[in-house]
Amino acid sequence: MSFASLGLIDQIVRTLSALSYTTPTPVQSQAIPAVLEGRDVMAAAQTGTGKTAGFALPLLQRLVTDGMQVNSNSARALVLVPTRELAEQVHQSVRAYGEGLPLRTMVAYGGVSINPQMMRLRKGVDVLVATPGRLLDLQRQNALRLNQVQTLVLDEADRMLDLGFSRDIDQLLALLPKRRQTLLFSATFSDPIRALATKLLRDPVSIDA
Ligand code: AMP
Repeated sequence: MSFASLGLIDQIVRTLSALSYTTPTPVQSQAIPAVLEGRDVMAAAQTGTGKTAGFALPLLQRLVTDGMQVNSNSARALVLVPTRELAEQVHQSVRAYGEGLPLRTMVAYGGVSINPQMMRLRKGVDVLVATPGRLLDLQRQNALRLNQVQTLVLDEADRMLDLGFSRDIDQLLALLPKRRQTLLFSATFSDPIRALATKLLRDPVSIDA
């Protein structure tokens, strides 16, 4: 199995070769075709399984191939993560996987000044990786409109609930377009995660890596 055979475009395949990724991991070989088709995904995946590339690669490809322009103060894809450390890490991966693609990416989390984040959002971003609280702050301050979001990713959803982000996620959902693609990644599938999945996902592809 190769990355090209999963449907990824040449530019991304070349980037993966440069990163010495030769073979897709199990979560990648299941998630990439499903996400490229526009399906919702519910994935049980631990850190270290390659889950970040599993959602980021097809997400980046869809953003490039649909050719839409992002509006100012908008984002086309949101990746929600529980902590600022994970936000930095996921954003670094998104940047590496998106090397050479005409996309703007950004990371935003709390505990640092909001002003540079507001400035950067003026031009709009294709991919915004963020923690839930800061994302809502940016929206409340009119720095971010959510009506252009076409894909929502929840990474480490179980940790997000453990850290008490349930209300923030609900508030955010109310602001997002109903018609969108949603990808939920979680290490564990407890009852609260299943309830969240029922609320968030439409006819999801289930992945167990
Ligand atoms: P993750 O589970 O997304 O945190 O990824 C775990 C680690 O595996 C990261 O250091 C990635 O760079 C690496 N990785 C992800 N996918 C592949 C792959 N297909 N081949 C080789 N390394 C990979």
